[in-house]
Amino acid sequence: MNECIFCKIAAGQAAAKIVYRDELATVFWDIHPVAPLHLLLVPNRHLISLNEATAEDAALLGHLVVLAAQMAAQHGVAHSGYRLLTNTGKHGGQSVFHLHWHLLAGRQMRSLG
Ligand code: 5GP
Ligand code: ZN
Repeated sequence: MNECIFCKIAAGQAAAKIVYRDELATVFWDIHPVAPLHLLLVPNRHLISLNEATAEDAALLGHLVVLAAQMAAQHGVAHSGYRLLTNTGKHGGQSVFHLHWHLLAGRQMRSLG
């Protein structure tokens, strides 16, 4: 997946403000943050979106979500709160087609309604 920017970031082949990395996942700052804390959590392995995930990816997906809570705690926003979201496909507003979660915090999020 040479063309994928998040694959390159996860592999250390493209620059990003890396916050955390392990054998399964990489966490880095969004290049255009929309909140005082705006991290992206990505699997190191290329998955286009949640649509590609199978039951075999359950542990990986769980790891990413638990990691998000750990990142929130480390950045001091667990108590004030945060939003964790993943955009899927066109109507979801996905613009980078490598699965990722946005961790947003540090300001009041708008209602979804
Ligand atoms: P999506 O719209 O797919 O849910 O989110 C993609 C996010 O990736 C956007 O918030 C965008 O700012 C961020 N992004 C796109 N390209 C890069 C990049 O090269 N580096 C970093 N750190 N973030 C990026
Ligand atoms: Zn990728």
